[in-house]
Amino acid sequence: MLNLPGIGLMQGLGVVFKNMTRKRITEQYPEERLNVSRRTRAQELVWEPGRCTGCATCVKACPQGNIKIKTSVGENNKYVVDQFENDEGRCIFCGLCVESCPYEALFFGRSYERSKYKREELIADIDEMTAADKERSAYYRPDLYDELPEQTLLIYRKHKRIL
Ligand code: SF4
Ligand code: SF4
Repeated sequence: MLNLPGIGLMQGLGVVFKNMTRKRITEQYPEERLNVSRRTRAQELVWEPGRCTGCATCVKACPQGNIKIKTSVGENNKYVVDQFENDEGRCIFCGLCVESCPYEALFFGRSYERSKYKREELIADIDEMTAADKERSAYYRPDLYDELPEQTLLIYRKHKRIL
């Protein structure tokens, strides 16, 4: 290659101009967020107390021993679930609890922003697992699939050029 004065500068400017016209593939997180897969196994479980019978099938299915349930006997000899906890810090997101629930009372959530400073803060109690802002994943729940937004795939996205 020729070693003329200024050739390095021209090559550098070539790289700059090439990238100035390139389509943007990054997001300005957290202002902009991508849609995760509709069937994501994300960092949390969502529990529906109205459907749960307290049968504890999910507890037995969990290979990590993560789920803790306490029940008492209520009206008509039915279980009342007094405590339902999941230690998300130990969860391997295998989905066995969701798949094993015979009453479709357990779902994966879609949140991916569950980072905490302390491990004990990752234990989700009843209030957290039933919080109104929880979004249920369609993992093992195909009925939910059409309600959820399509996943954002960066490689297929059409972006306007950013100047
Ligand atoms: S996803 Fe797997 S590890 Fe996590 S609570 Fe359910 S069964 Fe246990
Ligand atoms: S398996 Fe389903 S119905 Fe049974 S205790 Fe777990 S969440 Fe409730």
